[in-house]
Amino acid sequence: MNRNCIKVLKKKGEPIRRSLLEMDLLDNSARIISEGDHLLLPLTRKPEEVELKELPGDFELGEHEFEEQKGQLKLDDLLEVVPHFEIVGDIALIEDDVAEPEKVADAIMTVKKNVKTVLAAMSPVEGEFRTRRFRTVAGEDRTSTIHREYGSRFYIDLERAYFTPRLATERARILTQIEEGQTVVDMFAGVGPYSIMIARKSPEIQVIAIDKNPDAVEFLHRNVELNSTSNVEAIEGDANIEAERFASVADHVIMNLPHNANEFLDAAVKLCAPNAIIHYYDITPEDDLFESSLKLIDEAAERAGRTTELVETRVVRSYAPHQFNVCIEMRVL
Ligand code: SAM
Repeated sequence: MNRNCIKVLKKKGEPIRRSLLEMDLLDNSARIISEGDHLLLPLTRKPEEVELKELPGDFELGEHEFEEQKGQLKLDDLLEVVPHFEIVGDIALIEDDVAEPEKVADAIMTVKKNVKTVLAAMSPVEGEFRTRRFRTVAGEDRTSTIHREYGSRFYIDLERAYFTPRLATERARILTQIEEGQTVVDMFAGVGPYSIMIARKSPEIQVIAIDKNPDAVEFLHRNVELNSTSNVEAIEGDANIEAERFASVADHVIMNLPHNANEFLDAAVKLCAPNAIIHYYDITPEDDLFESSLKLIDEAAERAGRTTELVETRVVRSYAPHQFNVCIEMRVL
């Protein structure tokens, strides 16, 4: 049976493979094919247009027959329906509404030997600190772990602070834009995935990392130590208030608080040195992916007597049916 697949040059294969994995598009039950200079990567389904635009580099979309992965126990050998799940460190996260959660948890722990705990989310991401409540379905009864991402390590307690591995590619993309000698303000830093990755790029980059959640800032301090980064200033506080102290210092302002970032745009503009870039995240409907958010950024700049220049708009990932997590990059002149 033919499957949807992506054909990519071998030397450009790894970033696409990683992106597909994060978007749940890579079909791990089939063997990747090596064909001359190219790889054929099997897909779980035909990607949407917006998803294709987010894949890095050049590639072709096609169809091909693939062999099953042999000798490797797969989740669909053990489960009739494999539900969506995420892995953070050695913890697997499933949704609370999956059928037979105990059976799913046992299957995950059987197939994924590095998973020591399976948690079911008992709430959506909620509240000011964007946290979730969990119950332990199988394994060790804990919500803390150490997650590895692009060579950085993050201590996280998932019930006490926000973290998602699904933004790994996005963080890597932002990283490529930061240059030596620059100052970055991460207004909603959480446990520090953007801040620490950026700080590790060069000791000549200064990072100011703010979060209002005291637990997130405690983990941020811990992660600064874990990754030996001496160029991160971790600040517990409200980004609107803390920004007052850092007027015009930033070359980049990261605003990763989708849904509410618009309430912090005046502070973000204030942080901007001339020509700084605001990286603004939002959740938007497919019929207004960027327009309304662009207007809000422009209006904030105008209030401060500044002008803007659009750098880039992109869809980061799909969030819910017809809703997307988007990023707008705007230069503030
Ligand atoms: N950037 C981090 C990441 O990628 O994992 C965290 C993003 S999370 C979506 C948003 C963060 O904003 C949470 O850690 C929350 O505690 C923090 N937050 C919410 N309101 C805030 C405020 N007024 N000032 C500073 N941080 C705030």
